[in-house]
This record gives sequence, C-alpha cells and structure tokens, in this order.
Amino acid sequence: MSNSAISSVLIVGGGPTGVTAALELARFGVSVRIIDKKEAPETTSRAIGVQSRTLELMELRGLADEFVRIGNPALGGSVYGGGKRVFRLDFSHIDSRYHYLLFISQAETERILLEALMRENVEVERGVEMISFADDSSGVKAVLRHQNGTLEEVTASYLISAEGAHSIVRSSLGLQFQGKTLAESYALGDLYIDGDLPPSDFHIFSSSHGFMGLFPMNGGRFRLIASNPLSEPTKDTAPSLQELQSIYDQRSHIPARFHDLTWSSWFRINSRMIERLKVGRLFLGGDAAHIHSPAGAQGMNTGIQDMVNLGWKLALVLKGQAPEKLLDTYEQDRLPVIHNVLTKTEGLTEIIGAENPIVRSLFNHLAPWIAGADVVQQNSTARMSQLALGYRDSPLSVQHGHGGSLRAGDRVPDFPLQVIRPSGAKENRTLFNLLNPSRFTLLFVGVSDAPTLHAQISEKLALWHELLEGIQVEPPNSESEHKRFKDYLGSTPAMLLIRPDGYIGFRGGEHSVSELADYCRSWLLTCSQRPHL
Ligand SMILES: Cc1cc2nc3c(=O)[nH]c(=O)nc-3n(C[C@H](O)[C@H](O)[C@H](O)COP(=O)(O)OP(=O)(O)OC[C@H]3O[C@@H](n4cnc5c(N)ncnc54)[C@H](O)[C@@H]3O)c2cc1C
Repeated sequence: MSNSAISSVLIVGGGPTGVTAALELARFGVSVRIIDKKEAPETTSRAIGVQSRTLELMELRGLADEFVRIGNPALGGSVYGGGKRVFRLDFSHIDSRYHYLLFISQAETERILLEALMRENVEVERGVEMISFADDSSGVKAVLRHQNGTLEEVTASYLISAEGAHSIVRSSLGLQFQGKTLAESYALGDLYIDGDLPPSDFHIFSSSHGFMGLFPMNGGRFRLIASNPLSEPTKDTAPSLQELQSIYDQRSHIPARFHDLTWSSWFRINSRMIERLKVGRLFLGGDAAHIHSPAGAQGMNTGIQDMVNLGWKLALVLKGQAPEKLLDTYEQDRLPVIHNVLTKTEGLTEIIGAENPIVRSLFNHLAPWIAGADVVQQNSTARMSQLALGYRDSPLSVQHGHGGSLRAGDRVPDFPLQVIRPSGAKENRTLFNLLNPSRFTLLFVGVSDAPTLHAQISEKLALWHELLEGIQVEPPNSESEHKRFKDYLGSTPAMLLIRPDGYIGFRGGEHSVSELADYCRSWLLTCSQRPHL
C-alpha cells in the first residue's frame, strides 16, 4: 500500500455536495483531494429544480448566468384537483432576482460546478473508492482503492463525507438515518409533450388515482413523476412511454400526447436525516446526511448549501484564522434547517398525494382560499425557494438592538444602495455587488458621526482587519428603493457583519463597536494567536 502526502481535506464523493465543498475550500486556497468511485460523472437528469437561494449563492461565485442560460425558469406552480385548477403558486412573490424555480438537469448542474472547480485547478479523481477510514486526534487516515486494485493510505486533517445516501462514514460511525421510506413506488420519466401544458409553470395533479407532477425542463422536455404506477416496478424494468401516457390520461383533464422518452426510472420516497453532522474530524453533508421526497425540489439544494456553510469555516480554521469551535457551528446552523426542510417536504408530499376522498375534497375546496392569500403565497414561496432559511438561533448570530426586518442569522437579500467612499463620493450599487464569499463584509448603515466611528474601528477591530472589509452605505435616492432599504435595515444607524456565506453574523447599532470586537474575539483569531502552521 502506498502512502500519500497529507492533504488538508479529503472529500469523498464527486456529486453536487462534494464538488461544492471542493470549490469553496479551493477558493480559500485550501488544498483538497476529491475522489469518486464512479469512473465518469452521471448523465441522468435526477434533481432538476434549482432554488432561488442556490442561484443567489451561485451568482456570488460568478456561476449563476450559466445556470440561467441553460435552465427553464418556472414562474409558478399550478395545482389541479377535481378536473380544475385549485390554485396557483405565483413565484413573482419571491424576493430575489431569481423569482422562479429553475429547471435544469442535474448533469448540467454538476458540469457547471465541475468546470468551476477545474478553474481552481482541482479535478475529481474518478474510479477511486474510499474503503475504510480512521479518525485519531492528529488527523484522518483513509484507505483508497484505485481502479487497478492498488491501495493507497492518505492522511488528511479533515474528511468530508459527500458520499450520497449510502455513505460508509455514516454507517461506520453508527449514525442512525432516522425517518421513513414510503412503501409505495413512484414512476419517473423525462419526455416531450404535445398539448396545452404551459412550460412556464409546473403542474401538480391531485386525484383519487394518486399524485402526478409535471415539471418543465428546458427545450420543451417535461419530467413526469407519479405515484401508484400501473405496472409492478422491478429491478430490470423502467416505466414505458405508454404507461406514463396512461397514467397521465387517468389523472389529468388537460389533453396532451407524450413522445420521445429520454429517461425513466422507478423510485421510492425516503425522508431521513442524521442528528450529527460532525464527529471529530469527520463532516457529513448532502444525501449522506439527509434524503428527501422530491416534492419541493429541496435535496440537492440543501446539500449545496450545507457545503457553502461549512466551506468558509473549515478554510478559516485550517488557515489558523479561526478557532476550532467555529466548526461546531456547522452542525448548529444546519441541523435545524435540515429538520425544517424535511418536515415541510413530508407535509407537502402527504397533502398533495392524499388519496383519501375526504382529505382530497377538503384540499380541493379549501386550498384556493388558503393559497389565494398573499401572505400564504409569500410564506410558501419564501420557504420553498430556501430564501427564508436562516440561522437566527445559532450561537454565531448575535443581535444588539433592533431596526428593520433583518436580524442576525438572516440571509441578506440583494437591494440597491449607495456606497459612501472614504473621499465622500457616492456610488449606486447593490448589496450583492459588495459581498465577497471569501471574507466578511462589515456594513455601516446611515452613520451619523463617521470620523468617531472610524477611530473606534481602527482601535478595536484592527486585529482582524485582513478578514473584514468595512463599507459605509446609505439608502438610494429613488423613493421606492429608499423604502425597501429602510424596511430591511431600519431608520437608525446600524452595523452589520455579513458572513462569507451571505448571512448576518452580528447586527448592532452605531455604538456597538465593543460588542462587535467581542464577537470577533470569540469567533476569529488574531495574528498573535495563530498557531505556526
Ligand atoms: C429522481 C430524483 C429526483 C430528484 N429531484 C430533486 C430536485 O428537483 N431538487 C433537489 O434539490 N434534489 C432532487 N433530488 C435529490 C438529488 O438528486 C440529491 O439530493 C443529490 O444528488 C445529492 O447530491 P450528493 O452530492 O449529496 O450525493 P450524490 O449525488 O449521490 O453523490 C455522491 C457521490 O459519492 C460517490 N461515492 C459514494 N461512496 C463513495 C466512496 N466510498 N468512495 C468514493 N466515492 C463514493 C458516488 O459515486 C456519488 O457520485 C432528486 C433525486 C432523484 C433520485
């Protein structure tokens, strides 16, 4: 067996979770190895729904344009029952530039991420399987089996299990994958449709025969998912075009003819998660840590966002810029979010898939009233798009005083503002123009006494200056944009420390510089505290 040089982080799994982890770490200059036991990337479409929050995070990494160029934006979701449309979820309520659900094949999502990783000079090593691992206090040792059968022992400071649903890290650690696997099988098919189903919406049909959803991918293709298929699923078969057409005819009142089936499969719904995402020097994320019903298109998005949360923390700790306790906040931040996402997707699957006539009748009658309300539309689209998910209860979220709707732990939205340069010159920008995913952004909002504040900052925050970029901002001139700025940030002077992953770590008033210094002392290391690496 050969021994390889220490690499800082070994990432096991080259799916969307693992590649995002590698990208995040490489961007900070951390050395990574990423392996996948498969010889080539998957080519099937699998997770097709990319949520607004994922697109925002991709924008901050310069990747969103490519997603938008290729994908099909669904502007709403129509739900039908009893031969008519019961309600329409309108995504124009989503408070983001990406006020839609973008449909794009997972193979394309993985390609975009892999190309970005190659630009960081990292490639997934394919045909390499991790077969065992051990975590001791000095690092993680893993045994890798290469395609030609040779074994290699690799030592790393940390290991990220992004192995998908069959993670050997999870099973070897004895972490319970708690939840359920539904007994019933679902049929899935990607196909083309001639008919009256607009590709600007996804379409959900609730009927006594079971659930059926059609999701508009790019180029006129749709993904069909249906419960209660007509034939008995077996390992050696896949749903045929004829069967998918019969399922459609049984459950929809809208005429449509299917043709050119490009992929089909059976699947079962799993809804499971583990209760620990960090064990010693091992981290778990993505499907290795949680699997979801495809209802709501949450699984892949949640995995990508796991790694956006972990990446900067692990990078700062490895670079000696943050204490190890920062790594515990990965689990503290993400477990409640994952729990919340799982509960919501389970609920959605149960309600829309209900076959009980009383439940369905109630759904058909009540849903239009409930879903017609603006507040329900806003709340449900904010949750589905993952924009409403945040970390208010995390130990990393510290709030001093109030003003505006944004709290410590919240995702910052993009909105127009004016930047005040040190010269006094003003520039019209948007908040996302100012964020950099490789450092903290410290926003000074509507400051009344800039010279005093600058003096306090130089005195109290100088120890961490290389990790923070301070920017003074004011509301923009336009009346509607001015209001939006105030709605988010309030009318009194404020300070916001925005984490590299785009969530507010600290929110305080103009006179909270000492409290902010305490926050930095708690979560970041100064040059003199850094271990010699
Ligand atoms: C039909 C279907 C529809 C879906 N729709 C959606 C959707 O619309 N939106 C959404 O967000 N999610 C959806 N999902 C879920 C989504 O596909 C997964 O959440 C996503 O693929 C998880 O990514 P991952 O990187 O965590 O794991 P995976 O994609 O499973 O990748 C894990 C990788 O690890 C490798 N690996 C495993 N063990 C080892 C080892 N020991 N050594 C080396 N390599 C290893 C595997 O070969 C694999 O390539 C859907 C899933 C399915 C099946």
